[in-house]
Amino acid sequence: MTDGARLATQPGVRPREAATHCPYCALQCGMVLRETAGRVEVTPRDFPTNRGGLCQKGWTAADLLDHPDRLTTPLLRDRPGGELRPASWDAALDRVAGGLRAIQERHGRDAVAVFGGGGLTNEKAYALGKFARVALGTRHIDYNGRWCMSSAAAAGMRAFGVDRGLPFPLADLGRADTLLLVGANPAETMPPLMRHLADQRARGGRLIVVDPRLTATARQADLHLQPLPGTDLAVANALLHIALTEGWIDRAYVADRTTGFDEVRRTVAGCWPAEAERLSGVPVADLEATAWALATVDRAVILTARGAEQHAKGVDTVTAFINLALALGLPGRPGSGYGCLTGQGNGQGGREHGQKADQLPGYRRIDDPAAREHVATVWGVDPAVLPGPGVPAYQLLDSLGTTHGPRALLVFGSNPVVSAPRAARVESRLRDLDLLVVADFLRSETADLADVVLPVAQWAEEDGTMTNLEGRVLRRRALREPPPGVRTDLAVLAALAARLDAPGAFPADPAAVFEELRRASAGGPADYAGVSWDRIDADTGVFWPCPDEDGPDTPHLFAHRFPTPDGRARFRAVTHRPAAEPVCADYPLHLTTGRVLAHYQSGAQTRRVAALRRAAPGAFVELHPDLAGRLGVAEGEEVRVVSRRGELRAPARLSPAIRPDTVFAPFHWPGAARANSVTNDAVDPVSGMPEFKICAVRVERA
Ligand code: SF4
Repeated sequence: MTDGARLATQPGVRPREAATHCPYCALQCGMVLRETAGRVEVTPRDFPTNRGGLCQKGWTAADLLDHPDRLTTPLLRDRPGGELRPASWDAALDRVAGGLRAIQERHGRDAVAVFGGGGLTNEKAYALGKFARVALGTRHIDYNGRWCMSSAAAAGMRAFGVDRGLPFPLADLGRADTLLLVGANPAETMPPLMRHLADQRARGGRLIVVDPRLTATARQADLHLQPLPGTDLAVANALLHIALTEGWIDRAYVADRTTGFDEVRRTVAGCWPAEAERLSGVPVADLEATAWALATVDRAVILTARGAEQHAKGVDTVTAFINLALALGLPGRPGSGYGCLTGQGNGQGGREHGQKADQLPGYRRIDDPAAREHVATVWGVDPAVLPGPGVPAYQLLDSLGTTHGPRALLVFGSNPVVSAPRAARVESRLRDLDLLVVADFLRSETADLADVVLPVAQWAEEDGTMTNLEGRVLRRRALREPPPGVRTDLAVLAALAARLDAPGAFPADPAAVFEELRRASAGGPADYAGVSWDRIDADTGVFWPCPDEDGPDTPHLFAHRFPTPDGRARFRAVTHRPAAEPVCADYPLHLTTGRVLAHYQSGAQTRRVAALRRAAPGAFVELHPDLAGRLGVAEGEEVRVVSRRGELRAPARLSPAIRPDTVFAPFHWPGAARANSVTNDAVDPVSGMPEFKICAVRVERA
């Protein structure tokens, strides 16, 4: 029996300690929470992903449980422009239900929209999707995970017929002879993951990092390729060109396990390494060394993350790296493969169970008649009442309050005022709504705009499941009850469904929701039918697909076939194209955005943790000293970064780690330092991923 199960199943009253997982990123590090005299202490727990490690965010996660900013009563705004005031739950829920009804009666079902988050448990993501389709009958639901991994998800579906971030356990990284990380900086975003990379290095493995910045991860690499943002696709095609030229293609694998290679071969034949060097700045010699390191070893792994994916060509960029992996025969080969490092805590599970505009639980498509029939039967409704697909997150937010867009929005676990691209425009759209409802445990910048704020439970106050970056389903275990005045998200949805006279059941008990989720996912690509809480407790989680409670789970995918109709992976020819917004005389520099070690996503949580605030008190703009010299900017001096959409102001941080033609800003801060005031809202045509990673700017002394 695992530590988690032992602690979770002690007889008697609720244990004052719980073996659970960190509330933040997709590594879902194991931790134990102990409450003594009202104080909650976090200690790391040995788990396959973190192997006893935690980052500073995990160590301090409990600081928010009793934080003075904690919301413990609903808030209502009586009139536009008025102040939020405390209210009873009945008054708040009546206002929400009454408002939703009135708007739908006047403008139709789709006049109400739902926006979820990649941090919600599987149970909450599932219930939210069901609530939107059944209780509200709206097609408009999407979530902030769209901005996290949707390009890798779409490319994975296109190539492999399934989207699971890593198709193998994280421990496999430690055995890779060569590991290529593209646009990933785990030393800052997921520090305990570096333990696996340390293993890999200790065994003599090679680490190659592709990143426009010399990051903490890139400093540890044997080889750092430092391309211009937005040119990763050209780099990938050049690597495949070299592999073809050198005769390093795994021809038997390509013949037996794939389709579509001939067109890719013809396409990349024209992708000359010298041209890739011209576009990206990566020397041909480094491209050759990388191709050689991947192609001439037994075990090679290619991983992408947001740096490669958050582009208007993110899907094609990931596809180019998948093409390279397939040509080298990596996916499904023991110890080798392609994967994506998912970012948000339940980014993986959140996209499997119905928060995405085009999906039903189990990763079923909402436009598939058989899928609609199956899920409608579980939900006890006629398939005909289920709406069709909605639109991706940015398109949804950009339509709010417009003539044909939704008039009301319910937000659960997200803070788009800080995290959305072109955020000032999104903020303005939110202000145009007739009704904005935010469920959160802190007053985020989005909650500040709401008509109704509903105070909900935190991670240590709820049970449920999360699915980490490996596709491993984990147990989140409650340490304590929510404080008086606070309800769980599931209880909120249940109460609203009752007020809306929704058909079907909306249980507030997460165990009951999970049992329903199992049935709804049964037979789908992300099949959880064989996953039970007891089974998770008895081991270190369960990898989906797991269709049978008595059968095995699936740590490794693709060993013998791909889940496509013919069992083969699909190559797809892709070519480089420029960024959506080229630099010009007025905006001569590239801006790229990202994260810092101490903060998470929009920062609504981590900015309130004193230790994290001390570690990273504010935003900054990273510039190369040569660029700073040309602009006359000194270290620490406030600068303006201006794009066609807006500006941000923050102190300059001079560093030779960044290219002289590019500046970097973290996106965790609101107000004048908000990086997303500047970012581009161009989106990938397949995934809907906005181009967070590159836009044209100028930098001025403030
Ligand atoms: S933020 Fe991520 S890496 Fe840090 S402790 Fe939490 S799960 Fe682990």
